[in-house]
Amino acid sequence: MLVHERIAEYCQNFKLSGILEHYATLAEEAANKQLSYTDYLVRLLEYEARRRHERGRETILRMAGLPVIKTIDTFDFTSSSVDRALMNEILTLRFIDETKNILLLGPSGVGKTHLAIAIAYAATQQRIKTRFLTAADLLLQLESAKRSGRLEYYLKRVIGAVRLLVIDEFGYIKLNEEQANLFFQIVNKKYETGSIVITSNLSFIHWKEVLHDNEALTAAILDRLIHHSHLINIQGESYRLKQKREAGVLDFPIRHS
Ligand code: ADP
Ligand code: MG
Repeated sequence: MLVHERIAEYCQNFKLSGILEHYATLAEEAANKQLSYTDYLVRLLEYEARRRHERGRETILRMAGLPVIKTIDTFDFTSSSVDRALMNEILTLRFIDETKNILLLGPSGVGKTHLAIAIAYAATQQRIKTRFLTAADLLLQLESAKRSGRLEYYLKRVIGAVRLLVIDEFGYIKLNEEQANLFFQIVNKKYETGSIVITSNLSFIHWKEVLHDNEALTAAILDRLIHHSHLINIQGESYRLKQKREAGVLDFPIRHS
């Protein structure tokens, strides 16, 4: 057996794909630079470690299920009421260590989803297990888990397995009684054990209407969400419409209540 084949076989058995990928190039380099054998070994192991680290990040990003990738670099603070200093603080991700939540409220188009994605993306880059879901998808998953008797499993293995849960677009659909109860279970599950980032077009006084008019349940949910949290209330008009209007495509002003 050729030496390369033997190396390849060992690397496969021991799952050392970084070493397999890089050992030959590095061997040539080591020969040219007259590196010692130990230097060669150290560099090779460092490469393997780096590749594993990167792959871990890629996996976590894939598992997060972001609809698209957006970062804070493409967020224009000059045309937004969002406080840049607070956003920078949030992006240190200390809030995840402190199991705090982030509440992003505001009308349509002001960048709530953009910021939620940017936070989730930053977390994946720190290899923090993250899951991004719309409220509608989350409820579908909960209901189907409940129907098939796997609710416990879903709460433990899917919701419990991530440190950061992003729930986008809470408030667009009204929940029925069962859905409202399931939603409470999610918030309760994450309370003081993980972090939730939630976006909503509704201010808190209207949450009860979405939560099947259940006052006690709404209070319990808001209590847990707000207790340790950063609240970002975004004012202003839709970024998309603003851009269109500035470009002269729309010739009417947009009113805000
Ligand atoms: P919301 O979730 O609040 O309805 P989105 O985050 O979906 O709004 O924003 C609508 C679009 O406008 C997206 O393409 C988003 O990237 C963009 N956008 C919104 N606000 C900003 C901003 N301040 N800077 C750059 N892009 C923005
Ligand atoms: Mg949105």
